Amino acid sequence: MTILDGKNLANELVIKIRTEVDQITSEGKRAPHLAAILVGNNPASRAYVGNKMKLCEKAGFKSSLVERDINCTEEELLILIKKFNDDPDLDGYIVQLPLPKHIDEQKVLNAISPTKDVDGFHPENIGKMTLGLPGYRPATPLGIMIMLENYGIETSGKHCVVVGRSNIVGTPVSILMSRKGYPGDATVTLAHSRTQDLPGLVRQADIVIAAIGIAEFVKGDWIKSGAVVIDVGMNRVEDPGNSKGYRLTGDVDFTGASVNASAITPVPGGVGPMTVFALIHNTLQAYNSRF
Ligand code: NDP
Repeated sequence: MTILDGKNLANELVIKIRTEVDQITSEGKRAPHLAAILVGNNPASRAYVGNKMKLCEKAGFKSSLVERDINCTEEELLILIKKFNDDPDLDGYIVQLPLPKHIDEQKVLNAISPTKDVDGFHPENIGKMTLGLPGYRPATPLGIMIMLENYGIETSGKHCVVVGRSNIVGTPVSILMSRKGYPGDATVTLAHSRTQDLPGLVRQADIVIAAIGIAEFVKGDWIKSGAVVIDVGMNRVEDPGNSKGYRLTGDVDFTGASVNASAITPVPGGVGPMTVFALIHNTLQAYNSRF
């Protein structure tokens, strides 16, 4: 059984990017620049943004974090986004989600210039992905595709069951897995809360991608022998024995699923680091398209 080690892989891939960036800067050009906007003080969001900024540094990128307090208005945020869109020294940026309830998330995502949308959430980039045109792919699905490719996981003709149909994970990864080429060419079933007999469906899967948001929802005995399991879930579960008071767990019962799986992502250390790497990948793509 293979552990799909996203942490190691992301580090290896970032070292390759660092070599490319060092070459660029040695020629006197500026480094790629990624910025993040963080609104409010959600500890999980802060941790995610921190990881993104750290990997940027490793890649040799310039990174900027712009913070606004929870009372920031939608208008103030849109003004900041306009400034970022117009900044010639900024290649890409992200707005860390979720945003406070009083801000219309879709309106904010729509305001990001598609050329700087390295999270790949803008409708123009989603449309390009659907049509197979060049553009920025959403970071988590892209990270999963990069992982499958680097581990040489066969996807052609395989039955891939994606559980969860969110706009940022489930739906786009189902599109990428079904497109022509590698990794892709899979026969995809997209499951959600209205799906009937989910255990029976998952038992038919050669590849399971779980993006539900419920700790250990997918049970070990749902996993077919030899299946590949990609666990996107990132759930904080209370754990008084842990110094932080909680532990992170995925949407799949890792121990149970490991019995039958041929390969599985751990949580943490699987899809999470690959998501961050995908951002770096997209930012370099944005930079290269400008120079
Ligand atoms: P959402 O809450 O947006 O979507 C959850 C999906 O799961 C929905 O489509 C929902 O169905 C489905 N679902 C909920 N309950 C059930 C059920 N009982 N049976 C079947 N399907 C169900 O979540 P996200 O996609 O944003 O995130 C999913 C998980 O991935 C979370 O744990 C999140 O923290 C994690 N995540 C991790 C990232 C990483 O980098 N590792 C990045 C992004 C997310 P319906 O549409 O019918 O409501």
